[in-house]
Amino acid sequence: MTWFRKENRPLEAPKEKRVQTEGLWTKCEACKQALWKKDVEANLHCCPKCGYHFRVSARARLEMLFDGGRYIEHDARLASSDPLDFKDTKRYRERLKKAEITTGLKDALITGEGMIEGRPALVGAMEFQFIGGSMGAVVGEKITRAIDRAIAGKLPLIIVSCSGGARMMEGAISLMQMAKISAGLARLDEARLPYISVLTDPTTGGVTASYAMLGDLNIAEPGALIGFAGPRVIEQTIKQKLPEGFQRAEFLLAHGMLDAIVPRKELKSYLARALRFLQPG
Ligand SMILES: [Zn+2]
Repeated sequence: MTWFRKENRPLEAPKEKRVQTEGLWTKCEACKQALWKKDVEANLHCCPKCGYHFRVSARARLEMLFDGGRYIEHDARLASSDPLDFKDTKRYRERLKKAEITTGLKDALITGEGMIEGRPALVGAMEFQFIGGSMGAVVGEKITRAIDRAIAGKLPLIIVSCSGGARMMEGAISLMQMAKISAGLARLDEARLPYISVLTDPTTGGVTASYAMLGDLNIAEPGALIGFAGPRVIEQTIKQKLPEGFQRAEFLLAHGMLDAIVPRKELKSYLARALRFLQPG
């Protein structure tokens, strides 16, 4: 007799532990390695295996550049009024609303003031997720206000571009921003204040044709696509095959269109050093 009965049950295999991994992994576009997203983020959104520079959001960019990731954001509520009441396959208003939900921003640029290695600076960063980082009236106005603030406070200005160019849904108004910002940068120049342009992947169209190429220093991230028109349009126009690596940062540097290519890890210290040089004291 026993005090208990041993159940003669077959041993159950331990329940399979399911770990949710969806969305935690990403694939490097250059070396095709599967990467743990956290590792990529910790590496300033660069591939830990090959150094490929992933696109970063405007917020992440500002956090990377400012000391302690802290800054005072300016004109956050400035939004497009859809002046042309534009509609293509979709209403422009709907596109704006969708972009706002995706990014939490009112338009394709964040401007802010903070410290870079202990020195105050104004920085603007473009958000590609917001209608391809396109430049409309709001981007133009925010940059112009940043220029005015830089002049008033005798501060340097840095703009990190990541843009497909002018915003088609604002027609000629978006093109006017090129002149508006360029005129503003001329005033900044007259005030003898430095402006550094950082071109990231991609910087094209009207942005390249205006403020992205007007810096006292024009620097780019490695491998960034930089150009005005797309390669297919150029090939069809000039009826010639374009050379290898055309419109990449390295090609532009070799042909005198850029001052430097700076890896993201060194970007902040490079900018701080450049600002100390351009604006001593
Ligand atoms: Zn890689």
